[in-house]
Order: sequence, then C-alpha cells, then structure tokens
Amino acid sequence: MLAEIRGLNEECGVFGIWGHEKAAELTYYGLHALQHRGQEGAGVVTSDGHELKLHKGQGLVNDVFKRFDFQKLSGHAAIGHVRYATQGERTIDNVQPLLFRSQTGGMALAHNGNIMNAYELRGELEAAGSILQTSSDTEVLAHLLKRNGKMDVISGLKDALSKLIGAYAFVLLMENSMHIALDPRGLRPLSIGRLGESYVVASETSAFDIIGAKFEREVLPGELITITDSGIESTRFAMQEKRALCAMEYVYFSRPDSNLNHVNVHASRKRMGIELAKEAPVEADVVTGVPDSSISAAIGYAEQSGIPYEIGLIKNRYIGRTFIQPSQELREQGVKMKLSPVRGIVEGKRVIMIDDSIVRGTTCRRIVRMLKEAGAKEVHVRIASPAITNPCYYGIDMSTKEELIAANYSLDEICELIGADSLAYLSSEGLETAIVSDDTIDQGVCMACMTGIYPVTEQGQLEVTYTKC
Ligand code: AMP
Ligand code: SF4
Repeated sequence: MLAEIRGLNEECGVFGIWGHEKAAELTYYGLHALQHRGQEGAGVVTSDGHELKLHKGQGLVNDVFKRFDFQKLSGHAAIGHVRYATQGERTIDNVQPLLFRSQTGGMALAHNGNIMNAYELRGELEAAGSILQTSSDTEVLAHLLKRNGKMDVISGLKDALSKLIGAYAFVLLMENSMHIALDPRGLRPLSIGRLGESYVVASETSAFDIIGAKFEREVLPGELITITDSGIESTRFAMQEKRALCAMEYVYFSRPDSNLNHVNVHASRKRMGIELAKEAPVEADVVTGVPDSSISAAIGYAEQSGIPYEIGLIKNRYIGRTFIQPSQELREQGVKMKLSPVRGIVEGKRVIMIDDSIVRGTTCRRIVRMLKEAGAKEVHVRIASPAITNPCYYGIDMSTKEELIAANYSLDEICELIGADSLAYLSSEGLETAIVSDDTIDQGVCMACMTGIYPVTEQGQLEVTYTKC
C-alpha cells in the first residue's frame, strides 16, 4: 500500500545565474549538464528586474526548449530545474521552477530534495487558509514565506526555512534578488561559481564547466545566500550540523566530472573499486563495468587486482538511464534495450562484473544472464557500495523496504537470484574511505540507506504522500 501511494522517486537538478544578459540561455546549457538528474521535465524562470517570466515543459531539456526563442525569457537573472516525476504526478503543474505571482511581487522556486514534514506543514497552511496549487513539497516554502507576514525577505526566508525538516537545496528568484539555501546537514550537493562578474549556482559543478564558469565554493549546510545587484551576502538560518552529503551522489547519481564537497566523483568511484578489490578479491580473466556509472570503479578494481580491465558491456547512448523509468515493467524493458555484451571479450572468460549498486536487483540479474548468454564461463559480481537495506527519506528513489532486494534476502540468496558465481559488496568503511579524502574539510556523508543510521529523522516519516524533488 505504502509503495502505491508514495510512488517511485527521484533526483532533481537546480541551476541559477545572476548578472548576465544571456541568463536564460546559459541556464539552458547548465541544465544540459544536469540532465542525468531528471529527464521528465525542465523549466527556466528569468527576471529582468520588473517581471518574472517562465518557460517549462515535460521531457528532456532539448524537447522543452526546441526552437525556443530565448528573447521571450529576457533578463539578467535566471533559475532552472530538471526533474523526474513520481508515478501519477507527471503533470505540468509539478514541473519546476514553480512560479507564484502576487501583488507584492513574484517568486520562483527550484528545489532538489525532500521536505519530510511537508505533509504536516501543508495541513497547517491549509488550516490557516492557504490554497496549495500543486502536490509538490516545494510549494510549502513559498506559502510559508508569504504567510509569515515579515516584510524583510531574508528574515522571512530564515523563518520559513527553519520550519523545514529534511533534505533540500533551494534556488529562489524574485524580481530583484536570488536566494540560495541548503539544509543544515547538506544532504544534497550545491555549489557557487563565477562567470566573469556573474554568480552561478548549480547542483553539480559539471554545470559550471559547460558554460565556462569557475567553481568558487560549496554552499554551506544551513546557509542562506542572497545575491542582488549590490553583491552577495551570506547568513545562516540554522546552525551547521555535521555534514551528511548523500553517498549515493558519489556512487551513482552525479556525473564523474563533477566535484562534490571538494571530492571528484570519478576519483572517488575509482577508490571504491580499489577498496572493493582489497576487500573481495577473486580469481578471474577480465574486469568489466556496467556503463556508465560503474566504469570508474571497474578501472579501480582492475588497477588494484592486476586483472585487465575490458569493455565487456556496451551502452546504447540513446536510451535514458534505467533509473528514470518510473515503473518496474518499463525499467525491465529499458535494461534490455540499453546494454549489449561484447561477446568477443567475455566468451570463455571468468568475468568480474562491477556494478555501482543493487537496488531492486533487476538490472544485475539481467546483466549476469546477458554475459552468460554471450559465453562468459563465470560471472563474479562485485558491488562498489554496501547493500541497500533501508528506504531513503531524502528525495531518492528508494521508497520502501519491500522493493529493496538486500532488505529481503541474504547475500547467498541474492547471489542465487541474480545467477552470479559469487557476489560481494563494498563495506560501509570502504565506501567512507573512498569518499572522505581530506581531514581538514567536513566531508561527512549520509549512508542511511546502507547502514540504517539516519542523519535527519522526523516522526511520521513513513507517511510521505506528496511529490518531492
Ligand atoms: P536495480 O537493482 O535493478 O533496481 O538497479 C540498480 C541500478 O540502477 C544500479 O546499478 C544503479 O546503476 C542504478 N540505481 C542506483 N540507485 C538507484 C535508485 N535509487 N533507483 C533506481 N536505480 C538506481
Ligand atoms: Fe543518499 Fe541513501 Fe542518504 Fe538517501 S539514505 S540521502 S540515497 S545515502
């Protein structure tokens, strides 16, 4: 029941730029570099100092902005968003940025994360007379801000943000200001950059590289940044707590060329492979990785073990990530269409197949079968992250225990279910070693879905029924 009402979810990307005459176009390019974070909808809102203008739609960034005349989105500031819709929530209303207009001015919001107490807050807002237009938890912040009656935007935002519990990276645009906020644990990634005199903000630094912007710094957990024509101002809406950046960002979600909290994603994945080879060696002829997210770990495993790395699987570049398919049925179809084994490499060989993670187990089972059908003599599966045994409440597609294979079966049972000759996961210590590289920076990570230790908890967290992003 819970699985039905909650839907399968999600990962989003946010982008913003202040002080550039081509703000909308640059946001469009920035969203391209974040496309892997959500393929179901995209949108851009600009400000010219007087008015906020919106263009959004369902589908890929390219589809939404096909033959689009960017003159329609004039302005020196813009925010953008890519999203993945929940089941039953694929309406244009929930595509972000959300734009609200009122007599005192407009406000546009783009969000990545999950507000765990949105359900309660919605109830309180509705009881106080607010009419919410979407099923998105993002709208809650807009109403909290409008309701608190404070004239000064920064105090109003601090007050509204301090009521939220969960994981959130917000970019908010008003006619004359942009506001950026990250939750007190920094569960989701968010960085600030510069493009000449302009300020840029993005979920991943790959969005800076695509437009030639330079990374400046991470947004700090609990920080509220305001950008206006007078410059940039930082304040806190909450005390910074120990950082708990989502470890799955390193394992799977983020692009290898992105740096998250000063750690390059490819380099961390390679170290995951190295740790995995130390923890779970096995005799074999070749090491191969599932493209694209497992290639770095496979290279690390091969380097550490001395077993050659080979391209044993080819990805069809024109099919979206399995992750993005909302239903199990579509997911299964997607896997079939997405990957092909390289017979000439795996035939007659003992293959070590590295995958970044196992969630439901469908992908792994299909790939093992594919490799065996292509003639692999043995397939040893090595997973570059610990077993996922717990749901995620912070905006990632792992909603219930029932759908997590490792929450329901033992290691041996999973090995049998996926048809592998052996199976091993990286330990949580190994994962932490691979990610945390610098003692001088708080590089603490969340590994709740693997360890059951949740950095942020909220009573009633299982009751989440609204759309998160
Ligand atoms: P499956 O075990 O069939 O659910 O698919 C797991 C594969 O999907 C992994 O190898 C990852 O590449 C990718 N993945 C990682 N995290 C998720 C997630 N939260 N939801 C869906 N797929 C994911
Ligand atoms: Fe990321 Fe897992 Fe933590 Fe969710 S529970 S934020 S997926 S590490």
